[in-house]
Amino acid sequence: MPSKVIPVADWRSLSRDRPVPGLSGPIATPSGALTDTLARPLRDLRISVTDRCNFRCVYCMPKESFGKDHPFLPHSHLLTFEEIERLARVFVSHGVEKIRLTGGEPLLRKNLEYLIERLAQLRTVHGKPLDLTLTTNGSLLTRKAAALKAAGLTRLTVSLDALDDTLFRGINDVDFPVADVLAGIDAAREAGFASIKVNMVVKRGTNDQEIVPMARHFRDSGVVLRFIEYMDVGNSNGWRMDDVLPSADVVERISARFPLEAIAPGYRGETAARWRYVDGAGEIGVISSVTHAFCGDCTRARLSTEGKVYLCLFANQGYDLRALLRDPAISDAGLATAVARIWQGRGDQYSQQRSAAGAAQASGDAGSRHDTEAPRVEMSYIGG
Ligand code: SAM
Ligand code: SF4
Ligand code: SF4
Repeated sequence: MPSKVIPVADWRSLSRDRPVPGLSGPIATPSGALTDTLARPLRDLRISVTDRCNFRCVYCMPKESFGKDHPFLPHSHLLTFEEIERLARVFVSHGVEKIRLTGGEPLLRKNLEYLIERLAQLRTVHGKPLDLTLTTNGSLLTRKAAALKAAGLTRLTVSLDALDDTLFRGINDVDFPVADVLAGIDAAREAGFASIKVNMVVKRGTNDQEIVPMARHFRDSGVVLRFIEYMDVGNSNGWRMDDVLPSADVVERISARFPLEAIAPGYRGETAARWRYVDGAGEIGVISSVTHAFCGDCTRARLSTEGKVYLCLFANQGYDLRALLRDPAISDAGLATAVARIWQGRGDQYSQQRSAAGAAQASGDAGSRHDTEAPRVEMSYIGG
């Protein structure tokens, strides 16, 4: 059954914030070892630096919902770089080791290098530099890759859903040529990025014929290609379970042409299952967000462009920290207390509940069906 399509502007007014807890209680001194109600630590922070994008990918910002008159956030609503840095510092004091900049299209945010320079100065609670990375559609990389590297970005992920130019232009829906994204990936390599990943969202019947050509193209290149199951994020992409091609099928299709073997995960909470080519031509990853829920290891918080914290990609409410940031009476200790209380109250595990609900529906137990009707946050607003 197609999900309900809710205009994005309506979603913003429908979505009420959750009250920020903990401001009247005792100060929570950061120990770097914060855990949520399911004993999951806080390790990753994804920061959306803009809700705007120069693409209109059909599965993320379809033109019907993000047309010419779409009310993007006014500049005064965005967190400034100083505010982002201050909050990032608080999150790092609670245990965050990895920060990913995203959007919208993060490279559209003016002077982003300046923010990267500042974040690159932060140290984890163990005194190490952060793993500082960025997800981009690659359209501006030829111009920006060198500056991003010089500013201290450590890794880069480029989204690319097809090599076929006609298909790619149709998916981004702004007629953007695939050659320019490939040139961007080359520019990133020349700029010295040692770790580059390419993410391909697979939608059955739309771009699944590109799986093997993409694998062939990036084999032996040093770039790690990762296949992501098309997810039911947001309200505007009309997601249907039939559109999902399970990762197991992706592995099977590639392996039939280029044999693969499984390898161990790099760390706890790694979202991608890793496979390597038996002939030594490198590795791929598959992210089974729909068919194999991984909520038990989910250590990610998300910060929206306007300063709301979301505890799950599928959340329908966030905690507004911008008001606190702009309140002169709130100290860093107060902010740290608020973040601690928010994370300590976290019990989100949407994907797992969806899987359980699916299984229950299949066995006729309608009572355990998960409520998917509440309007959810859009991917372009909190980033992937
Ligand atoms: N604009 C940048 C980009 O495209 O890389 C960053 C933001 S984009 C929202 C982050 C990632 O989310 C992209 O890799 C995109 O393909 C992925 N994404 C968006 N909608 C998705 C969906 N419905 N299912 C799975 N991945 C999705
Ligand atoms: Fe823009 Fe990225 Fe969404 Fe595509 S996936 S519309 S590039 S934010
Ligand atoms: Fe994390 Fe939510 Fe995704 Fe589960 S559904 S892995 S809690 S973001």
